[in-house]
Amino acid sequence: MKNTWDVVVVGGGPAGSRAAEVIAREGFSVIVLDKKKVIGEPNHCGEGISAHCLAEIGVRTPQRWILREVKGARLIFPNDTTIYFTQKGYCIDRPSFDRFLSRRAVDNGAKVKTSAAVKRIIRERSRWIIEADTDEGMREFYSRYLIGAGGALCPVTG
Ligand SMILES: Cc1cc2nc3c(=O)[nH]c(=O)nc-3n(C[C@H](O)[C@H](O)[C@H](O)COP(=O)(O)OP(=O)(O)OC[C@H]3O[C@@H](n4cnc5c(N)ncnc54)[C@H](O)[C@@H]3O)c2cc1C
Repeated sequence: MKNTWDVVVVGGGPAGSRAAEVIAREGFSVIVLDKKKVIGEPNHCGEGISAHCLAEIGVRTPQRWILREVKGARLIFPNDTTIYFTQKGYCIDRPSFDRFLSRRAVDNGAKVKTSAAVKRIIRERSRWIIEADTDEGMREFYSRYLIGAGGALCPVTG
């Protein structure tokens, strides 16, 4: 059947790209759908990340998108609560970081489709039907597994 994948990942942020990378590396067919035209843009992030986090996802340093090293960070919340992170970390260019992870997924065999806003998800027997508004109009994607990595507004629920 056309447009059938082992896994459809909704959302091409860090979580979705990393999931797709690992799945593709294991030889499964996987497509990432993201509503953004360009992965990572627009950016809504303070652009701080710990060295531990990068190591955890297998990213070696230095990288072009690492702008500066920091010894730690202080987070101040609107109610003036403060949290100190004492781990080493980095200030990054978040859009470039997201694209780096997305490219890494593609290099491992994943497909990434941008301008694909998921509108409806249907469970039908043993498969998922994912309807997305794309450049080519409404399209259906079929998969055995579905990953919701759409962030705060993820359409994959329950
Ligand atoms: C103001 C702000 C500052 C932050 N600062 C930091 C920081 O300094 N350090 C830090 O570590 N974290 C920070 N965060 C948190 C960080 O941005 C998130 O934890 C991180 O982006 C989560 O990654 P994700 O891949 O799960 O989701 P996201 O990065 O949110 O990615 C989700 C993707 O899903 C796509 N998507 C959503 N709905 C659909 C749909 N219907 N169809 C298709 N695609 C869809 C979106 O376009 C997006 O690309 C900050 C967050 C905010 C809001």
